[in-house]
Amino acid sequence: MSRAALTEAVAAVQGYVRYLQRLGVTDLPVMFAPAGRADVPPPQMTPTPAEPVVRLAQLATAVRDCRQCRLHAGRTQVVFGTGDPTSALVFVGEAPGHDEDIQGEPFVGQAGQLLTRIIAAIGLTREQVYMLNVIKCRPPNNRNPQPDEVAACRPILQEQLACLQPRVICALGTFAAQTLLQTEEKISRLRGRFHMLGTIPVMPTYHPAFLLRNAQYKRAVWEDMQRIQDVLGLRHPR
Ligand code: URA
Repeated sequence: MSRAALTEAVAAVQGYVRYLQRLGVTDLPVMFAPAGRADVPPPQMTPTPAEPVVRLAQLATAVRDCRQCRLHAGRTQVVFGTGDPTSALVFVGEAPGHDEDIQGEPFVGQAGQLLTRIIAAIGLTREQVYMLNVIKCRPPNNRNPQPDEVAACRPILQEQLACLQPRVICALGTFAAQTLLQTEEKISRLRGRFHMLGTIPVMPTYHPAFLLRNAQYKRAVWEDMQRIQDVLGLRHPR
């Protein structure tokens, strides 16, 4: 490993430890290796849980100056993703809007505030899940992302999900659901049941921005969230 890569990896681990401290974690279990014997070869090293977290942090650094599509010209910054990279639950949205572009964090505008409340309703905080978008740079005037922009961003999305390895993905809205599941089916037909993305169950549901304009769909989203709660074992018996 080069010195620069090592420095980056150490910074990523330090960042993750600070993140755990903010969550109130004060100590971590320490594994003591048995004293080695000269005639016994050391055990084969297996990847530590921190490795995907480090890889994710390295990916964030690597794409900070991405110019793979035209969207780089109008962005303030790449909006990579936020939250607990070891979370069982990942929310996937469409693309950053104005507030996200300024703050560099997904779902911080009005729709994001509603999403935060939806997450609270299943007993979690936004810090306990991971949030990201299919597209990492704000499209001008919040227009729909174009197919070549999706194609340019897809390798980042795939690598993010490979690092995160969530137990469940919640796809927010038509665009995220169709892109993840590679289908043209409408969100109204996709939602309400899990679809597999490799080995990961994906629950498509309505986008919080859509809910802000169509409150009558909140019940459907709540039902989808309860399905997620069930899979993650978060639902308390009544
Ligand atoms: N809508 C999205 O899909 N993503 C965001 O980050 C904000 C709004």
